[in-house]
Amino acid sequence: MLEVKRLSAAYGQHIALEDVSLRVGRGEIVVILGANGAGKSTLLKAISGICEGKVSGSVRMNGHEVVGERADRIVEEGVALVPEGRGIFADLTVEENLLLGAYPGRARDEERANLGRVYRLFPKLEERRGQVARTMSGGEQQMVAIGRAMMSNPAILTLDEPSLGLSPLLSKELFQSLKAVRATGIGILLVEQNARASLAIADRGYLLENAHIIHEDTAANLMRDPAVQKAYLGGA
Ligand code: ATP
Repeated sequence: MLEVKRLSAAYGQHIALEDVSLRVGRGEIVVILGANGAGKSTLLKAISGICEGKVSGSVRMNGHEVVGERADRIVEEGVALVPEGRGIFADLTVEENLLLGAYPGRARDEERANLGRVYRLFPKLEERRGQVARTMSGGEQQMVAIGRAMMSNPAILTLDEPSLGLSPLLSKELFQSLKAVRATGIGILLVEQNARASLAIADRGYLLENAHIIHEDTAANLMRDPAVQKAYLGGA
């Protein structure tokens, strides 16, 4: 459904992404593992049309080329981004934040239905719908950010380091909620430092190193791979 082919991105002379190819299908979780500076955020930004650098190559959503399209057009094609650091509006309530995600035409008519879906997925957000976002816990704020992206009725959800800064318990809740999102048929592209937890819920994964995809496999095989264990799982 989402098909990235030979995608490259450069900031001036600095090549942050080179010839990256990957795909994400309906109802699968795909994780991108990579060290700091490998190009993970650039990859998600390039897919979403918000990369400040020069982007070339191909990103197809259901067969439609979206490289070079404006970010709001890409959301209309069904690709939503949960950015690093969440980007929620601290002084607005939970529900106001969620409703801001419903701006794309593809979602506007179904705003109430989507809100209901988000509340079924995250009952806590419904309980706290009137609470100012700033006063929510880190994990709850991350759920608001995911819920807001879900309000655009996406077919593919991309997330940049969603577990960053969360306690182990809240991270666990977060990864469980991503499984619930997958169960609705949405495809998930996940960039994560927490390799163990993300491989545990993922179907497939890619290793991004120095702007290149160096390996891809099922999550189960990656978890068993000695090189992956050494580099990403803190073991031999
Ligand atoms: P991290 O895990 O630390 O967030 P990352 O894998 O997400 O890293 P990117 O943020 O994609 O890495 O950055 C890849 C490279 O591109 C880095 O060397 C970074 O310094 C550079 N870079 C990122 N954004 C810009 C920018 N706007 N201008 C110039 N260089 C940038």
